[in-house]
Amino acid sequence: MTGGLRPLALAGALALSACAAPPGTCAPPRIVVDIGHTPDAPGTVSAAGVPELTFNRSFAERLTTALRRRLPADGTVRTVSIGDPDQKLDRRVAAIAAQRPSLILSIHHDSVQERYLTRRTVDGMELTQTDAAAGFSLFVPADTPVAAGSLAAAQAVADALAVAGERPSLHHAEPIPGENRRLLDPARGIYAGDFLKILRTATAPAVLVEVGVIKNPVEEHRLSDPATADRMADALARATASACF
Ligand SMILES: [Zn+2]
Repeated sequence: MTGGLRPLALAGALALSACAAPPGTCAPPRIVVDIGHTPDAPGTVSAAGVPELTFNRSFAERLTTALRRRLPADGTVRTVSIGDPDQKLDRRVAAIAAQRPSLILSIHHDSVQERYLTRRTVDGMELTQTDAAAGFSLFVPADTPVAAGSLAAAQAVADALAVAGERPSLHHAEPIPGENRRLLDPARGIYAGDFLKILRTATAPAVLVEVGVIKNPVEEHRLSDPATADRMADALARATASACF
């Protein structure tokens, strides 16, 4: 494991040294915020029965606002809208590429594998929840030309979230069916995400952010608090708005 991490650590170090270029040498930041999922495939369902898409939209809006506040004057932020029910994954990928982004932040909220879910029925509706996992996870392309920049961006995001009091979850690395994801940076909860089309096809550094585990009722309650969501959104903005990845 350690040996396998060395080239990636080196890649990250190279990317970080590129970030240390003299001020003014970076292209103006063009950040795209991608709202994970679509109305007809709204992702997971929270412990309280709220679709993931609802969380993703709300957080993306807060992040966009935070980025606008922190971007340099020549920077731009675009949110890839999924209001159009036809805007499926392929179209989102094309819409992101058309923005010629310098950085892509894809916003999601997390779940766990079936074996960790407990069931309850509320008003005739079956809901599932877990207390087996909590915390953020970050996925990046690890085997594409934008791997180094993506890892550097994810490291900056993880560090800013840690300063904001958040902790990573390592549950995606558990060696069970459906998980077993490759950890690139265990201390920061960063995983290889090349199995995700939005990352595999990214033409700019990209980070898919699982903000937290909404199948966990305690975490869902916390993330539903606007103050918590705003603090996390601002951490992401602080890490990315004027950085050069
Ligand atoms: Zn998702």
